Amino acid sequence: MSQRTGFPMKLKENVGLSALNTLGVCAAARFYMDVDSLDDLRGALAWAEANGQKILVLGGGSNLVFAGDFDGLVIRMRMASRRWEQVDGTGATLVLGAGENWHQAVLYAARAGYRGVENLALIPGTAGAAPVQNIGAYGVELCDTLLSVTALDLESGELVKLDNAECGFAYRDSVFKQSPGRYIITEIRLRLSRDKPLQLGYRDLEEYLGEAVSPDLDALAVAEAVMAVRRRKLPDPEIIPNVGSFFKNPVVPEEKFTELKSAHPDVVGYPQVDSVKLAAAWLIDQCGWKGYRNLRVGVHNRQALVLINHSGGTGQDVLELASDIRQSVQKRFGVNLDMEPGIVGG
Ligand SMILES: Cc1cc2nc3c(=O)[nH]c(=O)nc-3n(C[C@H](O)[C@H](O)[C@H](O)COP(=O)(O)OP(=O)(O)OC[C@H]3O[C@@H](n4cnc5c(N)ncnc54)[C@H](O)[C@@H]3O)c2cc1C
Repeated sequence: MSQRTGFPMKLKENVGLSALNTLGVCAAARFYMDVDSLDDLRGALAWAEANGQKILVLGGGSNLVFAGDFDGLVIRMRMASRRWEQVDGTGATLVLGAGENWHQAVLYAARAGYRGVENLALIPGTAGAAPVQNIGAYGVELCDTLLSVTALDLESGELVKLDNAECGFAYRDSVFKQSPGRYIITEIRLRLSRDKPLQLGYRDLEEYLGEAVSPDLDALAVAEAVMAVRRRKLPDPEIIPNVGSFFKNPVVPEEKFTELKSAHPDVVGYPQVDSVKLAAAWLIDQCGWKGYRNLRVGVHNRQALVLINHSGGTGQDVLELASDIRQSVQKRFGVNLDMEPGIVGG
């Protein structure tokens, strides 16, 4: 047993994490604690500090690659709660504890008749991790509805409330990603509406809904359509372990896009202000990676952005494959691909 000071009741040693990351890679935490309350969280942090242990905050493990073991304390956020605030004529604020399952919360909101997050259905993970990379899908991002984030600021030790602007949201980015280790999110607030227009402009969604689009369409029907579209294209991590999109869509200057377009007329890009967001999946596909597999890991055969762990792959195996993909895209198109998931250990 550990000789370290003040060993909290819930703290465990040498815990395997393969069931706690959707890539299903083997890794272990030197110390581990399930955190169900603010008291748990403060206790875990105090213990880590007293014993000189670094910490890793873990939600659903759906956006992390364990390249090795974590030699410190893994704090698994399980603080689950849902409540409504500021319910008025057409709007309401949904407050979610950090450990709430994101997809279940989306369905809960949609079933209650509120709109705003239905396009983000079936994104795995927890509500507390959603602001970290400002989750987005089908033309909607978390920042479109997020009112505020409550977090423990490890610099001051205080609980702070950051409003939307203070979260520094951008494409797959936020202050939480930019200041790693500073904030532990405990709660998020979403401002939802009964009558805001549904976002149906994303091509796959529009095609799927087809004639079903009518004034009677509600948030739940849209969430169900998003789920159906996603199930067609993306592997279920329960069956084929993965972390969703492995690369961000690169944003390049307009001149670079013009240059690419003249050499590759089919290049897929979405105009932004003064720049163009390229479809990373198209770039990877063009380099011949879609459906590639070696003994342990590979690239999904329907979505080139998704790297998968076929059989006993390690985090290092996946990162090596990612590195080969990045190099070939760089060589062929002169475009740098940034990875979306965080890397731990190794
Ligand atoms: C099949 C699949 C599909 C996906 N589709 C999408 C998609 O469409 N769009 C999208 O944006 N993402 C997508 N993702 C990525 C992932 O689901 C999201 O990024 C999700 O928000 C991660 O949640 P998590 O709880 O699993 O976080 P984890 O993977 O556990 O953690 C991710 C990061 O957040 C930090 N973190 C976790 N909880 C907290 C907290 N409470 N406070 C502070 N930091 C915290 C962790 O330390 C880590 O740095 C997909 C993943 C998979 C496997």
